[in-house]
Amino acid sequence: MAMCFTILGSSSSGNCSLLATNHCKILIDAGYSGKQLCKLLDSVGESIDNIDAVFLTHEHTDHTAGIRGLSRFQHLEFYANHGTAKAVQSKLSRRPSWKLFETGTTFQFRDLDITSFSIPHDAYDPVGFIFKNGNGELFTPYRSLAWATDLGYVSELVKERIRQVDVLVLEANHDIEMLNEDTKRPWAVKQRITGRHGHLSNHAAKELLDTMEEPRWKQVYLAHLSKDCNSVEKVAQTVTNGKNHTRAYNITVVPPGETVPPFEL
Ligand SMILES: [Zn+2]
Ligand SMILES: [Zn+2]
Repeated sequence: MAMCFTILGSSSSGNCSLLATNHCKILIDAGYSGKQLCKLLDSVGESIDNIDAVFLTHEHTDHTAGIRGLSRFQHLEFYANHGTAKAVQSKLSRRPSWKLFETGTTFQFRDLDITSFSIPHDAYDPVGFIFKNGNGELFTPYRSLAWATDLGYVSELVKERIRQVDVLVLEANHDIEMLNEDTKRPWAVKQRITGRHGHLSNHAAKELLDTMEEPRWKQVYLAHLSKDCNSVEKVAQTVTNGKNHTRAYNITVVPPGETVPPFEL
């Protein structure tokens, strides 16, 4: 095994995934309370004591709600860029062990190479990540995973970054009709969600899948679904609609709030 990836939960109300290699275990985002996160780890036979670090994409609560609780664990390191760390820290009384990176750079953590890239979203300095393991040799081939949720549109930079990975986690946030018909959200919020710095619709996610040239993907997760304005069925219908539904990779739509079985890559 080079890497093992488990989505502990993903929706517009909470996001956290576990990525394990031979030499480290990390969380990508921590959008549930510390207590809930410990339970989620428990449910997949893991413990917070074995987690080495948490990597944050941006400061929104559905990605950082657990930082307060997790900051009690002194062995944990929290990786974020300056903008995100500052925004999260401003709401905390304790100071977790921050490790700052610069957006757009590649750095190492144990046996992982991590590259962050800017995404268009209404946060201080939101990023997506590429996690890469292996050195390209026979028994240690390159394996990589891209995390790209919370983006208003797919920029050229994002396209370029996510094309050559084995596993892609991509946002499919809302069904446009369901969002338009929703009565809970005021017009301004709907404008924010569909704006250039909001969230990716099912159609936008499908368009990316359909137009990407020669992706390396083996597995694509469509994640960060809105509980009110989307459904697993809607996402599945949208991505299989039309001519381009024979794909060389597997697609899993992540049901909001459910843990997805581990994927080894
Ligand atoms: Zn989010
Ligand atoms: Zn967000």
